[in-house]
Amino acid sequence: MRNLAIAMSNVTHLQCAACGVQYPAGKLYNLCEKCGKPLLVHYDLERASRTLTRESLKSRVSSMWRYREVMPVSSDADIVTLGEGWTPLLRADRLGRVLGMNQLYIKDESLNPTQSFKARGMSAAVSMAKELGVQKVAAPSAGNAAGALAAYAARAGMEAHLFMPRDTPRANVVECIELGAHVTLMDGLITDCGAEVARRKDAEGWFDVSTLKEPYRVEGKKTLGYELAEAFGWSLPDVIIYPTGGGTGLIGMWKAFDEMEQMGWIGSDRPRMVTVQSEGCAPIVTAFEKGERFADMFSNAATVASGLRVPKAIGDFLILDAIRASGGSAVAVSDKALLAAVKEIGSLEGVFVAPEGGACLPALRKLIEREEVQLDERVVLFNTGAGVKYVEAFEQD
Ligand SMILES: *Cc1c(COP(=O)(O)O)cnc(C)c1O
Repeated sequence: MRNLAIAMSNVTHLQCAACGVQYPAGKLYNLCEKCGKPLLVHYDLERASRTLTRESLKSRVSSMWRYREVMPVSSDADIVTLGEGWTPLLRADRLGRVLGMNQLYIKDESLNPTQSFKARGMSAAVSMAKELGVQKVAAPSAGNAAGALAAYAARAGMEAHLFMPRDTPRANVVECIELGAHVTLMDGLITDCGAEVARRKDAEGWFDVSTLKEPYRVEGKKTLGYELAEAFGWSLPDVIIYPTGGGTGLIGMWKAFDEMEQMGWIGSDRPRMVTVQSEGCAPIVTAFEKGERFADMFSNAATVASGLRVPKAIGDFLILDAIRASGGSAVAVSDKALLAAVKEIGSLEGVFVAPEGGACLPALRKLIEREEVQLDERVVLFNTGAGVKYVEAFEQD
C-alpha cells in the first residue's frame, strides 16, 4: 500500500532475538511466529551513517526524532510526536556529596510528554502503527504506558483500549480518560491485563502494543542510549542504574550502544548495566542471583512502584544477557527505602522523582557497600517518571 515510502527507511529486516528467524520490514508484527519471543529491528547502519553523523546532530530537532535514520518509520508524515526525548541529564552534585561521589547524574525522564519515558516507546510504536494502517490499539499497563498510549493514539486519531490493574495510581487512570481512551480496570496484575488484551484483540480488531510483544516501542526507548552518549560527548558512563519492569529501556540502550559502535561513534566499552527492582516484585533479580537466563513468574507481586510490578517479563533473557555481558548487576530494594529516597532526592536535587526512580538510590548505596561501584565512577540514575502521578503512595506514608 505504501511501498514507495518504505524505501526511505533504513530498516533491513526484523529478527527474532531468541531463534534468529528473520521477517521482512514494513509490516505489523507481534511476537516471533516460530518461538513466541520478541522481534528486534535491524538497520542498514552503513547507509544510516551517511547522513546521520555526530556532526549533523548539532542542527537537529530537540526530540528523540533527531536520530531519524535509526528509527523505523519510513515517511516523516507518519511520525506522531509530542516532543518526546532529549530530556536533561542533570548533575546530582548535592546528592553525590552525601554519597561521597563526584560524577553522579540523573537522567530526568519526567520531562517527557505524559511525564514518563513511556512516551518514547509509544511515539515510535504509534507512528509505525499509523504508517501501517492501524486504527485501534490496545495495551495492558501498570499506568504510565497507558497514559502515553492514550496521548499518542489521540494525536494519531486512533482508538486506544487500555487495561490496567484496579489499584493503578489514580492520576494514570484519570489521564487516560481525559485523553479520550477506553479504560478497563481489572482485578489482577499487568499480566492478567495482558491476557485480556490477547483474548479479545482479534475479535475487536485491536493491534496489541504490549511491551516487547510489539517491536517498535524498544526503538523509541533505545534513544535513551543515543542521548546519553551524545550528552557525555560520545563516551558512556561507567554505570547505569535502571528501574526495571519489562526492561524495554535497558534492552533498548544496549541495542543503541551496539548500533553506535557499528557506526563508529563509540568504542567497545560498555557501562555496567544495573537492574533495580522492588523486593515486592523482583523476578529479574531472582533469576540473576540464581544464574538463570529466564525468569520465573514472581508470585504475589506487590509494590508502590507500579512500573516495576511486572511479575513476568517477556524480554527477561534480553535483560539478563545485557546485565551479564556488561558486568553489571541486579538489586532489589524495599518499598520503604525507595519511598524514602524520593524525598531524599527531591530535597537535595529539586526533582520529584517517581518511586521507580527513587529505587535507584538505595540500589546505588547497596552497590557502593558491596564495592561493586567505586565512588569516583560516573554513574547515571534513571528517573523514569514523575512523583506527582503517585500522590497516593506518598500519602500512605
Ligand atoms: C514502565 C516504567 C518502568 C519500567 O520500564 P521498563 O522499560 O518496562 O522496564 C519504570 N519506571 C516507570 C515510571 C515506568 O512507568
